[in-house]
Amino acid sequence: MMLPGCTPWPEDLAAYYRSQQVWQGVALGDLPSEWAARYGDATALVWHDERISYRDLAIRVARTAAGFARHGIQPGDRVVLQLPNTPDFVVVAFAMFKAGVKAVFSLASHRSNEVGHLSDTSGAVGYVGPNHDIAHGLRIKHVLSPEDLDGTPVAHPEIDPSDVAFFLLSGGTTALPKLIPRTHDDYAYQTRTVADLCQVTSDDVYLAALPVEFNFTWGCPGVIGTLHQGGTVVLADDPGADDCFALIAREKVTVTSVVPTVAHLWLEAREYLDDDLSSLRLMQIGGARLQPELAARIEPELGCRLQQVFGMAEGLLSMSRLDDPAERVIATQGRPVSPFDEIQIVDGELLARGPYTLRGYYNAPEHNAKAFTPDGFYKTGDLASVTPDGDLVIEGRIKDVVIRGGDKIAAGEVEGHLLAHPDVDRAAVVPVPDEFLGERIYAFLVSRHGRPSLPELKRSLHERGLADFKLPDRVEFVDAFPLTPLGKVDKKVLAAAAADPMTARDWKERS
Ligand code: AMP
Repeated sequence: MMLPGCTPWPEDLAAYYRSQQVWQGVALGDLPSEWAARYGDATALVWHDERISYRDLAIRVARTAAGFARHGIQPGDRVVLQLPNTPDFVVVAFAMFKAGVKAVFSLASHRSNEVGHLSDTSGAVGYVGPNHDIAHGLRIKHVLSPEDLDGTPVAHPEIDPSDVAFFLLSGGTTALPKLIPRTHDDYAYQTRTVADLCQVTSDDVYLAALPVEFNFTWGCPGVIGTLHQGGTVVLADDPGADDCFALIAREKVTVTSVVPTVAHLWLEAREYLDDDLSSLRLMQIGGARLQPELAARIEPELGCRLQQVFGMAEGLLSMSRLDDPAERVIATQGRPVSPFDEIQIVDGELLARGPYTLRGYYNAPEHNAKAFTPDGFYKTGDLASVTPDGDLVIEGRIKDVVIRGGDKIAAGEVEGHLLAHPDVDRAAVVPVPDEFLGERIYAFLVSRHGRPSLPELKRSLHERGLADFKLPDRVEFVDAFPLTPLGKVDKKVLAAAAADPMTARDWKERS
C-alpha cells in the first residue's frame, strides 16, 4: 500500500513489473546490512579524511534508525532532510528508509520559503539539518541534527517495498516545487539498471560533485548505484575544479556526474590545473542542455568518456551508451535506460511512463489532472524528437522554467515574490541565453509607481526567504507586456526581447 496522497501504478501493471523481476521487493533500508555482509571492510564513503567502511556504514544506519524511534517519529511520518554532501546525508537517508520515515529531500541551498513549503505540503513532523532557526520558525515538532539521532539498534516494522521511500522535488513547472514520491521498488530498479548500463563494479570510485540530494547524484547510478556494486563514493563539498580535481587524483575517481556549467568550468580549469585525472573513465553530463561544441571537448581534453544524460526527478532517464559512436554521444541524449520505459512524442512534447516514472505528485490532485494523460503518461514539458538511430534529442521546452546552470527555477515562483514588492504591479520571468550558465533569470516588470533597482529587488526577495539561486540576474521595467491572441502574456516575445536588447519594447495591451 502506498502512502495516502500518492498515486499507485495500476495493479495489473504492478503485477507485471514484479513478474518480470523489475520490482524485486527490496526495501532500500535493508541494503546497508546486505552490502556490509558482501563488501565488509571495503571503503563505502570518503569525505575529507574520513573513510567509512561498509560495515561501519551499516552500523551507523542502524543506530540512526533507532534514533527516529527514540524521538517518537513513527513509520509513515514525513521528515525534511536538509544536509550538505557529507556521510551524514547518506546515513540519515538510509536510516529513514529503514525506519519507514519518509524523507523529503530539501536542497542544501533552500531557505525559509522553500523549507516552509516542503514542510507544509508534506505535513512534516521533523527536520534534520543545520538550519534549526528556520525549522523552529515553522513550528516543526522535532528539529534535529544527525548527532541527536544516535540510539541502540532496535527492530523496525516491516517495510512495504511498493511504498514511498522518499520524496524528490520537481524542477518546478508551477509556482512551488511538487513532491515526487519514489518507492523502494522503483528506485532500487532505477539505480540497478543505470549501474549496469554504466558498467559500475567494485573497482569504481564515484565522485559526488553535485549536491547529493539531486536525483542525478543520488541514483543515476550515483551514490546508491555505486554502493550497490561495492564501489566507493567520494563526497565533494562543492563542484569547483580545485577541490574536485584534487579528489579525482587522490582517490583515483573513475566516474562522476556534472551539469554542463560545471563541465565548462572544469575544461577551463584544465588549462592551469594539472592534477592527474587519468583514473577517470566516465563523465556523465546532464540536467540541462549540453552544447555539442562543449560535448566534443570532453573526451580529448579530460581524457574520459562522455555520457549524455537527460533525466528528471520524476523518473524517465535517457542516456547515451558507453559503446555509442562519438558523433551520437555528442549530438543526442541517448535512449531510455529501461526496456520497460514507454515514451511518446505528442505535438512535440515528450510523454513518459514506466516502472520508475511517477503516476502522480504527492497530494496534488488538481495539478496531476493536468500533468498526466488519462492513461498515466507524465507530460514532461520538454520538446523532443527522435533521430533515425532512435536517439532522443531534447529541442527545448514548453514548461515555464529557467534552467540556470543545473538549477531549475519556476518562473511563477519568482514572479509571485516580485509581485509582493509594493512597487511591482506585474512581473514576467523568462530565461535569457547565457554562454556560461546556459540561461539566466530575466524579469520584465511593470510599475505605476517607483522603479526599484535590481539590488533592492534582490534584497527584498532575499528577505522573503527565497533561495539565492532563484534571484533575478536582470530586471527591466516596461510600460506593458506583449500579449498572445488569447490575451495571455506572450513569454516567447519577452524571451526574444530579453535576448536582444535592440528589439523595440513598444508593446501595447488591449484594455
Ligand atoms: P530535474 O527533475 O530537476 O532533474 O529537471 C528535469 C528537467 O531538466 C528536464 O525535464 C529537462 O527540462 C531538463 N534536462 C535534464 N537533462 C537535460 C538534458 N540533457 N538536456 C536538456 N534538458 C535537460
